[in-house]
Amino acid sequence: MSVYLDYNASAPIDPRVIKKMVDIYQNHVGNADSRTHSFGDDARDITETARAQVATLLGVQKGEVFFTSGATESNNIAILGLQKYGIESGRKHIVTSGMEHKAVLGAAKHLEQLGFQLDIVMPGEDGRVSAEDVLSKVREDTLLVSVMHVNNETGIIQPVKEIGEALSKSKTLFHIDATQSCGKLVEEIQHLHYDMMSISAHKMHGPQGVGALILKKKRYALPPVSPIMFGGPQEHGIRPGTLPTALIAGFGYACELALSEYKEKSDISSKLRQSLLDEIRKSGVQYKINGSQEFCVPTTLNVSFLGVSSEALMLATKQYCGISNGSACTSSSYNHSHVLSSMGLSEERIESAVRISWDADADEKSFLSNFDKILDTVKQMV
Ligand code: PMP
Repeated sequence: MSVYLDYNASAPIDPRVIKKMVDIYQNHVGNADSRTHSFGDDARDITETARAQVATLLGVQKGEVFFTSGATESNNIAILGLQKYGIESGRKHIVTSGMEHKAVLGAAKHLEQLGFQLDIVMPGEDGRVSAEDVLSKVREDTLLVSVMHVNNETGIIQPVKEIGEALSKSKTLFHIDATQSCGKLVEEIQHLHYDMMSISAHKMHGPQGVGALILKKKRYALPPVSPIMFGGPQEHGIRPGTLPTALIAGFGYACELALSEYKEKSDISSKLRQSLLDEIRKSGVQYKINGSQEFCVPTTLNVSFLGVSSEALMLATKQYCGISNGSACTSSSYNHSHVLSSMGLSEERIESAVRISWDADADEKSFLSNFDKILDTVKQMV
């Protein structure tokens, strides 16, 4: 049986979430923005319940949650949505890191082409940007700092707590892409200082195609984000378009489940991670773990099997496991990982790197036996 080890690309939807969504598809037909009949009221009750569930998980107010199609869209709104304000206020400088998701880097580079200035801070070999490096780039005219919470390829936790605290009293806005930490680092997220945060349902066992942008109020005012699309009043015009009731309900329920189960799941995942590391050590293969283990989430392992091409390894193991050598958004083109490159790793290490990601629902027995098969394949390929 083939085992799925690419949860950072998309985690399997929780069967309880599917059940909830099927009920909504079958029994709740309205549009949440219809005000003239009870079907609309019913759909609105469902989306507002979900908004409260998302808000509770993150420790924010309901009115700070704006539903989107996922974190790609949230990141784009958070960055491109500041264009107008940046021009009007004369603050056109942005700071981000070299290992961000392409939705952040692409949107920031787009603003650069339109006359904004961009500073990109590189992480160290440990996979972390330094808070000091990021803060040292902030100037009087810095509009935005955008740094992710957990990197999707390495699983390394970034110093967003320190950056957020330092920026909390400044005029510079702080955006965090928390796509890989939402539902996992629950308490940490609840205590962060930030202005905007992107999250996505399908990384936390909810459905694909829905996420949220959190816009935190300061003295009752939302961050000065303008819409990047037009067409309706939904989500206060910040994200127009009919709300997908069932997707949003599934997202909200996934948040509720994450809140009640994250501690137990984190312990199980940590044990699985330790077993993986033990297996690698015992196997005798040449390897290097990418990124500091001190700051890694328990659900990701980025490892280079030295002397083995990751592309060849993925093809050779395709029948029995799903691993990747980067984010799903770039792995289809077999580009070199921009994340590992930004850490300054050698070509050899980058070419031989694979990302393995899982969660507590992985079946331990098949997880480990398939992982042993990967190690056997590595041995044959050296
Ligand atoms: N940011 C990060 C850190 C991610 O890992 C991903 C998904 N690969 C995204 C953004 C994009 O999320 P979505 O699939 O919801 O658009």
